[in-house]
Amino acid sequence: MSKKTLVGFLLILSAALVIIWISRSEVKKKNIFPETIRSSTKNNGQSPNPMAEKLPQAEIVTEKFFLPPLSRASERVTKKYFGLFVTPKNSPVQPENFSGYHTGTDFEVFPSEENADVSVKAVCSGNILMKKTATGYGGVLVESCELSGEPITIIYGHLKLTSINFNVGDKISAGDTLGILGRGYSTETSGERKHLHLGFHKGRAINILGYVQNKSELAGWLDPCQSICTD
Ligand SMILES: [Zn+2]
Repeated sequence: MSKKTLVGFLLILSAALVIIWISRSEVKKKNIFPETIRSSTKNNGQSPNPMAEKLPQAEIVTEKFFLPPLSRASERVTKKYFGLFVTPKNSPVQPENFSGYHTGTDFEVFPSEENADVSVKAVCSGNILMKKTATGYGGVLVESCELSGEPITIIYGHLKLTSINFNVGDKISAGDTLGILGRGYSTETSGERKHLHLGFHKGRAINILGYVQNKSELAGWLDPCQSICTD
């Protein structure tokens, strides 16, 4: 072997060794990298990983599928939320005619709306199943819908019956104006204050009870705020 060949051979050998050394340190770096992400997440309190923030949001979008029936919906839930146990003595609304677990969510009107027409919109697309005057509600409308693939019925309570634009059997779309809220302390609201009672009852059966007497019955209902109180 000539001197030239030997030098060339050594050069190739050292280049190969350098390549092997570099690729081994790259593998090491990859192994360390996830640890670096985790510790920096802990330290600054803000996730540097955009996927970590996107995934939970995507889940929320599928749950909060419905539209709010009134503007600024979440600001209006100030008296009776879903599942609240009321009695004539402890109720946030006085005088109180009912007792039991509240099966829906009450959306109050703002002071400026007391004497104005307040439009109520459909929270989902579906069919009108019932439209009538009922004790405790005044005008009440029931709509069939699906939430996350499951059938539910929507109860809109305390509407002015004669303002309702649809009849039983009609198909409606999410966001359609259903009618307006009944006038407070009149037959339009069955003597109740002006507000919207919104109930989500599981399944296809019509049940317009505003209160139930035990928690096992309450399990037949869903909290409307989980799907619409996002604004
Ligand atoms: Zn209510």
